[in-house]
Amino acid sequence: TIPLQNESELDRQMLQKDIHWPDDRTPASRRYGDIYFSSENGLNESRYVFLQGIHAPELWRNKDHLTLLENGFGTGLNFVMTCQAWAKTAPKNARLTYIATEKHPLSPTDIRRALSPWPELDEQRDALLAVYGLRSQGYHHFTLLGGRVTLLLLIGDSAHNLSGLEASVDAIYLDGFAPKRNQDMWTSEIFRQCARLAAPEARLATFTAAGFVRRGLEDAGFRIQKEPGYGAKRECMRGCFTGPSSSDLPPWYHRPEPLSQGRHVAIIGGGIAGLTTALALQNRGYQVTVFEAEASSMSQASGNPAAIIDPPVTGGDTAEAQFSRSALFHALDYYTAHMPNAVLSRGLNKYPARPSEDEKFISFLSHPPFPHDFVSAGPNGAVLFPECVSLRPPQIREALEAHLPRTVKSRITSLSYSDHWTLTCGTETTPYSADAIVICSGPAATGYPQTDTLPLEPVRGQISLLEADKLPSPPEQARCGAGYLVPPVEVAGKSVLVTGATFQRGSLDNTLRPEDHEKNLATLADLWPEAGPHLSSDCIIGGRAAIRAYSPDHLPVCGPVPDMAAYQTAYADLHHGPRHKTFPVAPYHPHLYINSGLGARGFMTAPLLAELISGFIAGDALPLPRSLIEALLPARFMVRALRKAP
Ligand code: SAM
Repeated sequence: TIPLQNESELDRQMLQKDIHWPDDRTPASRRYGDIYFSSENGLNESRYVFLQGIHAPELWRNKDHLTLLENGFGTGLNFVMTCQAWAKTAPKNARLTYIATEKHPLSPTDIRRALSPWPELDEQRDALLAVYGLRSQGYHHFTLLGGRVTLLLLIGDSAHNLSGLEASVDAIYLDGFAPKRNQDMWTSEIFRQCARLAAPEARLATFTAAGFVRRGLEDAGFRIQKEPGYGAKRECMRGCFTGPSSSDLPPWYHRPEPLSQGRHVAIIGGGIAGLTTALALQNRGYQVTVFEAEASSMSQASGNPAAIIDPPVTGGDTAEAQFSRSALFHALDYYTAHMPNAVLSRGLNKYPARPSEDEKFISFLSHPPFPHDFVSAGPNGAVLFPECVSLRPPQIREALEAHLPRTVKSRITSLSYSDHWTLTCGTETTPYSADAIVICSGPAATGYPQTDTLPLEPVRGQISLLEADKLPSPPEQARCGAGYLVPPVEVAGKSVLVTGATFQRGSLDNTLRPEDHEKNLATLADLWPEAGPHLSSDCIIGGRAAIRAYSPDHLPVCGPVPDMAAYQTAYADLHHGPRHKTFPVAPYHPHLYINSGLGARGFMTAPLLAELISGFIAGDALPLPRSLIEALLPARFMVRALRKAP
């Protein structure tokens, strides 16, 4: 379990500050002049309006995965009450994905207080509070209640966040404040988004019976019915989606057919991307097998004795900056919650890698795209990230492997498909089979005819291990600039400082080079001037070199693998413009996925990418908005080229 997030960890600007408690127990908002739930008996009223409104528990009786969308998360009362009812009556091993929008999230203290009248919900409330850490606007993905429940909180304006959401929902709760007081939550755009996201026959429930809401929902494709309200209230509404299904994704990025739960997925590559992907898939009910060419998992680019989570110092809202922030927050929660032993140190001082970056650091500090207590000015021009951690990869490997079947040592050399995948290993006679494949083998990921046109470039990186006893006592917090330095770790009974890494494009050579150790020492001398005179090759007691994979736009390559030849034919006319004609949906290799191109940021990006790739495979709600998904899809390079051709 995670230590409780306290308010200082939340963005105070974003927090709901105008909450008050008129009768001492019912929370209300000054901004909207309304209460969060009924002061009479909020829980029973919510059960009546929402649970009965969506025909629970019949709705989920035969569903191994239920997806629910709530507009207006508020105190989380509907969330915890739904989790409780679902856990009691849903099929064994079923999963629940609960998506909720919220513009002014409540503090954990206020949530605790608001839900305190109902001790029967304590278990669900505590599970929520254990993960509820919000550091920014945008999508936040949490796993709770033993992995069966996923909460996807969309922080910010609802219409904006819903427009980027990729999901198919079985039921919808509309729970904004009263329509007269909170118009933004009851617009035709919100109703249009609900219709876009609704699965066929999706249920809808709301406490209001306002005429314009009814008409708006009907226009969007819901059949609406008025019902008696709870207690003294006159009416509420229930609905069912009867409109046509629609997607906002262009055909060339269309979502592939999902794979049914229980099927077998092969993961090629047992690095950090492969192991996190395997676990995310196993949590979704798939059988998984990880294939690793080396003797053990996490022995290549993720095999260093220490690693840092290194947030890029970039402002603005480029896809890279937005993706990095989402991945960063997700990773911090992931490691501290699921493998606290893997956390080596907290706090990172980040320095400009070269003098030309000074300006960028100054402007970053004046307007950091983070909550103000997430970033501050560190010593000597550094940017300090007090919450950023450095990690012990061997402990991460142990924690992940503890949940997974044993990794199979095999170098998969070819993949072929005819209603299932066959994986062959050059030297073995018996092939393996699987229903789906995720290729997570870093630079080797393009070693198959299906993937060989994806533009991944190998980059060699060497780290150096220094004997800590021969050096002055090192800084307590990790540092990074042109290279990095983390607090000492034990390696083979010795206290060792890990520093690196070099960056050499195009090289596949992973033998240690003395000249790379020299480069690392020179970089370290800038980062740790106090040790300068002591830094010599005498302190070096080892090192590691590994090859990482980079894409041309520096973003990972994560998603279904396009069938390049078919793609080229299908979208040959794309340069005439996207609306030039009706294009067919994307031709992918069936159930073939890739998760690679994590570069030197694998520990930061792997946990979120694992959720993304398994969300694709399972047909789940995706944990990132559409603009970022499109920026990560393997097909993006081909689509960019086709847009420009001939
Ligand atoms: N369902 C909640 C519960 O169980 O406690 C109560 C929700 S309360 C009636 C309405 C919520 O909608 C508030 O938390 C409010 O901050 C949120 N809200 C209001 N306008 C919004 C907007 N434009 N986008 C997203 N959320 C909004």
